[in-house]
Amino acid sequence: MEKREKLYEGKAKIIYATDEPDKVIAYYKDDATAFDAIKKATIKGKGELNNRIASFFFDLLNREGIPTHFIKQLSDREMLIKRVEIIPVEVVVRNLAAGSIVRRLGIPEKTKFEPPLVEFYLKNDELHDPILCEQHIYAMGLATPEEVAKMRELALKVNEILKKFMEEQGITLVDFKLEFGRKDGEIVLADEISPDTCRFWDKKTGESLDKDRFRFDLGDLVEGYRKILEKLEKKQ
Ligand code: UDP
Repeated sequence: MEKREKLYEGKAKIIYATDEPDKVIAYYKDDATAFDAIKKATIKGKGELNNRIASFFFDLLNREGIPTHFIKQLSDREMLIKRVEIIPVEVVVRNLAAGSIVRRLGIPEKTKFEPPLVEFYLKNDELHDPILCEQHIYAMGLATPEEVAKMRELALKVNEILKKFMEEQGITLVDFKLEFGRKDGEIVLADEISPDTCRFWDKKTGESLDKDRFRFDLGDLVEGYRKILEKLEKKQ
């Protein structure tokens, strides 16, 4: 496997081509952004932690039968993934109220959602990732009703798997964001699953072990992410 030219650089990752047209490499950077990139920092060690944590979660989900873009972890900061066409819709699943839903709707923090909520947001930084209802998705031609149904079904399955798994490690999965792609006509889970894209609360202490540490200066980010990785590695 040969690493070739840079295809795309995002806020937290760089995607490189390989000598195989249907496979690309995701390189995890140390950059952190929040609040539409108004708050920015480089946090040494974040990229490696997220690559290792995301590799663990994708491997777990692959084994549980969820179709994902993940092939294998290549190095501390790199994973080999299938090249997919990303659907520009962010899918958020919420078990407990936190973050934007508290600010936007005034729902008290920690309110339990049973069944979990599934929300859709437009992946567009200039427009600040506005929330979408399904009609918007169809009107804008972002995805078909069948694709939306599949994304919802997969997002809820991912939630069941990760929520149960994290619960066993003493961690509450509060909410998370997923992105999906199209690969040979199928919907596959793509992008990343890490403390950058999930809210994880320590069950005993309530401590945030995710990007809220950076967003709200709650403590050393690397220390929180490392606690997550250590719990995952104990399970291997
Ligand atoms: N999230 C994300 N990328 C985004 C927006 C949200 O990864 O562009 C994640 C976020 O980390 C949290 C969940 O999705 O785990 C719900 O985020 P929310 O809508 O509460 O927005 P926030 O308050 O985090 O900006």
